[in-house]
Amino acid sequence: MRKGYSEFLAERFDGKVQKIAVNAGFSCPNRDGTVGRGGCTYCTNEAFNPRYCDARLTVAEQLERGKAFFARKYPSMNYLAYFQAYSNTHACVDRLRELYNEALAVDGVVGIVIATRPDCLGDEVVELLSELAARTRLIVELGVETMHDVTLRKVNRCHDWTTARNAIVCLAEHGIAVGVHLILGLPGEDESMMERTVRTVAALPVTVLKFHQMQVLKGTRLARQWQAGEVELMQWTAQEYASLCARLLRLLPSHVVVERFVSQSPPSMLLSPRWNLKPGEFAQLLESKMNEL
Ligand code: SF4
Repeated sequence: MRKGYSEFLAERFDGKVQKIAVNAGFSCPNRDGTVGRGGCTYCTNEAFNPRYCDARLTVAEQLERGKAFFARKYPSMNYLAYFQAYSNTHACVDRLRELYNEALAVDGVVGIVIATRPDCLGDEVVELLSELAARTRLIVELGVETMHDVTLRKVNRCHDWTTARNAIVCLAEHGIAVGVHLILGLPGEDESMMERTVRTVAALPVTVLKFHQMQVLKGTRLARQWQAGEVELMQWTAQEYASLCARLLRLLPSHVVVERFVSQSPPSMLLSPRWNLKPGEFAQLLESKMNEL
């Protein structure tokens, strides 16, 4: 029986926990010229930065703000500092240590989730993460997106699948729980390619999987390509997407926890797909599709 994500967190973190996103002011190697410029064609981090998250504030201040935001809903909650925006291992190791320690010193913060790219994990960074994993609860989330290099090139990821696979294995060998982020419906991918990615990633030492539907957001290179007819994207309805997710779920071993299948962007930024789902509606759709299999 597969655990739900909140059940997994509650077990791992001894009780209910809420992730608080932090923008620690990092950049991304695919934007600042380290490995590329311009970023992934679909990327705009504005869509994923919550209101309480302000890079002008310190990490501790952002966490206190996040706690105040969630405390109204859940007064007795513990928290995970979620280093979310851009690539959160893209700095010198002393600066990283300082930022992670600052987060862990905040009252009520019981662990840390660090989102990064698979090519942003040098030896010193892995050593630091390994130390961190030994003294707190840590999950490192890797943006893998797909195992198909042809797609990774198409969306200008500027890393390949081998790098992603090696990063997953290396983190796991260092005792670090790995979360993997995948995008369903990347340009040029059909369902058999997505299935292959899911099967392959699930055979690696992955703890959490996080999926989202390919979204076309205003102001991105992908939006311009899509409007100019230069890329083809899946035009799923929410029902069709839920059917795909139900089939993919069946490919996963039961120990892999799925954090989510859909991501929501501000309607003012979203060009496609515009499903207008209410909270909880996709979970119901998914359940009904799973019952049909
Ligand atoms: S790696 Fe992440 S932050 Fe960097 S450009 Fe791509 S999606 Fe954006």
